[in-house]
Amino acid sequence: MTSNVKSKSTAVTRDYGKRNVIVTGSSRGIGKAIALRLAEDGFDVCVNDVAANQAGIDETVKEIQALGRNSYGHVADVSKLSEVEKLIAAAVENLGPLNVMIANAGIAQVKALLDLSEDDVRRMFEVNVFGVFNCYSAAAKQMIKQGGGGKLIGCASIVAFKPFALLSHYSASKFAVRGFTQAFAMEMAEHKITVNGYAPGIVGTAMWDLIDEELGKKSGAKKGDTVEKYSRELTALGRVSVPEDVSKTVSYLASPDSDFMTGQTLVIDGGIVFN
Ligand code: NAD
Repeated sequence: MTSNVKSKSTAVTRDYGKRNVIVTGSSRGIGKAIALRLAEDGFDVCVNDVAANQAGIDETVKEIQALGRNSYGHVADVSKLSEVEKLIAAAVENLGPLNVMIANAGIAQVKALLDLSEDDVRRMFEVNVFGVFNCYSAAAKQMIKQGGGGKLIGCASIVAFKPFALLSHYSASKFAVRGFTQAFAMEMAEHKITVNGYAPGIVGTAMWDLIDEELGKKSGAKKGDTVEKYSRELTALGRVSVPEDVSKTVSYLASPDSDFMTGQTLVIDGGIVFN
């Protein structure tokens, strides 16, 4: 049996060889932190986002290349299967076989259940649920075509475990991501593909800026203060989470260290207690 652990005097490094990953919604926020962390881990990275975030895609690609890894940017709306299929084909053409797919892209909306329109709910599910389904399904087909093996990783949320007032359709969409993750894991095992998820808590990103305004109205917090307020009041660790708190966990899920784990969604929330 060969070992991939190399020891040079006191330093120990792990070399898992060339691996390629797609990270959706990685022009900014948690997705960008994941893309950069996986580049540090040795992955070549396909950066994806919607067309409006082209500048962020280009910047992330540049930062990954500066780390000495190959990177490639591709605009695609994950809610459309045909665009996800093109994303995967382009990533394979530019980087090589797909080893890991990270379905990170998502949207949020703060609205009372009784105010929600059918369109609000439909759009939430198109991006958060169909987006993950499209990525899992199309990436699995590519991995099977390559001979099997690989990792599918999807982004849920703490509200997939503990629903939060005013985020009902977001919460329901993230429960569905957990469900797909568990179910796909059972069906993909025969192809040596594992399927796991990650569930961030309250993370200071552009998404939280959007949530901030509406929650602030309810709680009386000043604009920009809710991330501090909620992190302090609702988490055991009492500080605002940064994207890098999440990317460390995703690094583990993308690495061979998690090879015997499938169907799980790991919570990274600093110990949240919703009342
Ligand atoms: P963000 O808004 O900064 O990043 C999300 C990215 O996804 C954006 O760049 C956006 O353009 C992209 N995106 C949205 N719709 C897309 C589509 N149809 N196709 C391709 N890309 C699309 O937010 P973030 O906080 O970095 O969120 C990343 C993930 O983490 C999301 O799935 C979100 O639901 C989840 N999450 C965030 C928090 C938080 O507190 N910020 C908590 C729990 C879970």
